[in-house]
Amino acid sequence: MTEYSKQKAEYGDILGRALTHALTYLDGLDTSSVAATASGEDVLARLSRPLSDRGVQPAQIIDDLVADMSGGLVASAGGRFYGWVIGGALPSALAADWLTSTWDQNGALHATAPAGALIEEVCGSWLKELLGLPQHVSFAFVTGSQMAHVTCLAAARNALLSKRGWNVERKGVNGSPPIRILTTAQRHGSIDRALRLLGMGSNSIVPLAADRHGCLEVSALKTALVDDVDMSTIVHLQAGDINTGAYDDFDRIIPLAHQHGAWVHVDGAIGLWVQASPTHRHLVSGIGLADSWTTDGHKWLNVPYDSGYAFVAHPDAHRNSMSHRASYLTHASDARDQMDWNPEWSRRCRGITTYAAIRELGRSGLADLIDRSCRHTLALATRIGALEGAELIYEPRINQGLVRFLSPEALSTDIEHDRHTDRVITRIERSGEAFFGGTTWNNMRCMRVSVCNWRTTAQDVDRAVMAVEKILKDP
Ligand SMILES: *Cc1c(COP(=O)(O)O)cnc(C)c1O
Repeated sequence: MTEYSKQKAEYGDILGRALTHALTYLDGLDTSSVAATASGEDVLARLSRPLSDRGVQPAQIIDDLVADMSGGLVASAGGRFYGWVIGGALPSALAADWLTSTWDQNGALHATAPAGALIEEVCGSWLKELLGLPQHVSFAFVTGSQMAHVTCLAAARNALLSKRGWNVERKGVNGSPPIRILTTAQRHGSIDRALRLLGMGSNSIVPLAADRHGCLEVSALKTALVDDVDMSTIVHLQAGDINTGAYDDFDRIIPLAHQHGAWVHVDGAIGLWVQASPTHRHLVSGIGLADSWTTDGHKWLNVPYDSGYAFVAHPDAHRNSMSHRASYLTHASDARDQMDWNPEWSRRCRGITTYAAIRELGRSGLADLIDRSCRHTLALATRIGALEGAELIYEPRINQGLVRFLSPEALSTDIEHDRHTDRVITRIERSGEAFFGGTTWNNMRCMRVSVCNWRTTAQDVDRAVMAVEKILKDP
């Protein structure tokens, strides 16, 4: 055998094995436990092999990996997972992910992966169309909304400070004019982390009042904007609150913030996608006038991890805050180099999976995915909420809702209801039939209901309701 044919045979064997394991896993998702079944100790004991001197045969490694990880996997790839906000993987996107790794190019530059750079341009344009954003908006494909916030807020920092004659890329934030962030306590923690990484600590956050849905109070914002007209300001808004799925009033807030020279950043990790659905589009009316937006591919679009998108309405500020030029690199003069727009240097060609997912769904498929997830969420939350011993706390408007469980003891206090809610969540998880997460909302422990997976069916919903009912009947 020549070296070439030996390599060919090795790949054939190992990739064939991986395919068989993958299909076995995917086929088992309807019957397996959603939660992990093995203890951490067991999984760790299996994985903690002594570091060997001699390498191991690839086939052995892959077989061991599947055996050792088993029981330690959460079946969020399947349709019965309703925890946090976690999407599945569309078939074409999963296959495209394998090809991305197979091609194994560095998606930093056009020169290192020409088609990988160009596919991001095509997807960037498609995404703007689907999400109702103006075509002049610049974009970056990043790991998730966390890094999309960093990217957008770096652009905001650049724009706000350069208006004051301060070049933050050169001078840094030490001694710079201050920036404040007007937001509410309902914001996702990834905003705080993004600000921290950018040298704007938690003291720069000014929490304003929110209504009972978690939306920023327009009057509170107005007061804050008028009270300190000279301060550089970022207004942070939400398209899809983490607990309620609520949307801020973009039509009223964005023009108001702009009147006062503020930069408006929208966290649309969950909810920017409703633009693609004619039935839900009204929720994001006016959102296209913001200055930056983030959303995730790995949530509602069902692209495998990891995939997030940053969009910026001021391409110069975006590019100035990210771009880096080094003499040994070959920069394309007529094409887009991703590292001019991303915080990463070397990276995978992240556009390929997104390209596949958007093509697989098409406009109507995406609209259907959005509407279907919302319907399933509504059914789950209202049907579980109607069970004896349960209470619907927030009726879903999109794909996020809240229920809680009431302690059966007479005269139970709120603390006892809280404890009971957590207990029921754990018991549902242990049943293996469904998986929900907990949250504290308005000082109350609740169970979050979140549907983001294209695989969730009406039958999955029935199974979850039945599993909860069984647990509530057997306190
Ligand atoms: C998930 C989420 C984030 C963080 O996004 P990652 O993709 O996990 O980095 C930010 N905001 C909201 C509202 C989210 O749901």
